[in-house]
Amino acid sequence: MATVAAEVQAFTARKFEKPAKFLKFCENQGQPLGGMIGDKEIRGTMNVTFETSDPGSLEVLATVCEMGQAEVDRAVQAAQSAHAAWGKTSVEERCQLVMKFVELCERDRDVLLACEIFDGGKVSELAEGDFEQIRACAEYFCQVARKAQMGDGPAMRVGPGLKGFTHREPWGVVAGIIPWNYPIVLNSWFIFPALLAGNCILLKPAEDTPLSSIYMGRLAAEAGFPAGVFNVLPGRGEITGQFIAEHPGVRFISFTGSPGVGQSILRTCDLHGTRMKREMGGNGSAIVLADADPEVVARQIGRYTNQHYGQTCCTIHRVFVDQKIADDFINAQRDFFENLNIGYQADEGTQLGAVVNSTQFARVQQAQKETVARGGQAILPGGVADVADRHGYYLKPALFRTQPGVNCNPWEVFHCYASICPVQSAEQALQLANSSPYGLGASVWTKDVERGIELAKQFRDGTCQVNCHNCVAYGLPYGGQGISGGPGGGVNCEETFYDYTQVKAIYVGDYPA
Ligand code: NAD
Repeated sequence: MATVAAEVQAFTARKFEKPAKFLKFCENQGQPLGGMIGDKEIRGTMNVTFETSDPGSLEVLATVCEMGQAEVDRAVQAAQSAHAAWGKTSVEERCQLVMKFVELCERDRDVLLACEIFDGGKVSELAEGDFEQIRACAEYFCQVARKAQMGDGPAMRVGPGLKGFTHREPWGVVAGIIPWNYPIVLNSWFIFPALLAGNCILLKPAEDTPLSSIYMGRLAAEAGFPAGVFNVLPGRGEITGQFIAEHPGVRFISFTGSPGVGQSILRTCDLHGTRMKREMGGNGSAIVLADADPEVVARQIGRYTNQHYGQTCCTIHRVFVDQKIADDFINAQRDFFENLNIGYQADEGTQLGAVVNSTQFARVQQAQKETVARGGQAILPGGVADVADRHGYYLKPALFRTQPGVNCNPWEVFHCYASICPVQSAEQALQLANSSPYGLGASVWTKDVERGIELAKQFRDGTCQVNCHNCVAYGLPYGGQGISGGPGGGVNCEETFYDYTQVKAIYVGDYPA
């Protein structure tokens, strides 16, 4: 077996202490944290609160007020009133406010990192990378907004005495429903294109990780967004989320989350005439060709299989490897998985921390068992991991060997988990990789880059990669096919900006003689 030229490591923690400003924010002068409506902190009329906790220690970080129907109503009204003026601001005014908000996020970088690390259970290396997305995303969408064709399009003659043209404008009130795994990244992907297109927003964070959104709401008020432009509505999906989905004043919803929830919200939106865009889960695949160095590629794939402990939407869960190198690949992958440093996410050197909540803890263990029941052969069976002096949702990584015709992991597992299937050819690998209802991200690993590109184009997925995985770049669409997403190209491209606008056809006839 070839020697590994460069050591590829899993994302790793440095020691991270809670900054005083984060503690003060969570403490909130002894009051539960409210939503942000208008530019005010609102506790809500339901008098319902929930706790948000650190998955690696089970310590309660803060108590949060749940927003009910009255608050969703109030937020929609605030947003509608604000839109009358916000929709008419110039692109430059919006860009200035957005960049002021980014500067405030950067001033309070440690607070937002603490939200990701303690509320979300993430290691610092990944949280720091996520944080960079705030500026990158804002700058990209400022550029797009400056060039975007809003307002009236060119007129065309459509009949005798009749002309027509398009008129593009913001929807008005749009909502972002966000999952727990990448709050500051996914908030940015929603907030910036939505605001820069001239909309007023309702941001609904996941109940497991509400802190960064609530903090961002405060920073938006400090940046000077007019009251009602930027509203934050924490609460459970089936309560706050459902009220948002049912509200006729919300014109467009950008949803990121699991396919089942996305499908259910889509049905609600359809009933209420709300447009919806969905970015959902995946069951990522990787194809490793015979010319690849099994050890080098196993480490690369290991890094991305374990990104945020596999709680990343396009995580590689299925690997199809040429049978000629399969044994070497499996051994190297097992070594990588076995040597992951399991521990508390804010302790130096941790690479595999706790999963986000008790539901996920049970779900992953169930998926590990079902894989074996479906015919997967356990190389590393997974199960509960002990971490000294910590009570948290810790699980071991899991690795299985399978064979063509044995579909042992049909569903997204969302942990450091993979099945490896030796195959006879790249064509067989492609057919197996594509035989999934998901279609988010897939990769080919080979020294023959041209052949890799040829194969990558044949994935049904929205993101097709050669010798890399989990790639995201502004200017290229990031979106899913099949049950992983739709409609449209995805996020982070020009088309995303236009998703936050509606186009009307305007016809003008000569006054009848
Ligand atoms: P989820 O679907 O359970 O929840 C997502 C959001 O929807 C949360 O804010 C939740 O409160 C809300 N929600 C739940 N029920 C609702 C309802 N009835 N009405 C309105 N809102 C409701 O997802 P999750 O567990 O938070 O996140 C993990 C999932 O997200 C995984 O499937 C992952 O792959 C996916 N994801 C996809 C992408 C992407 O870009 N494609 C990115 C990150 C995560």
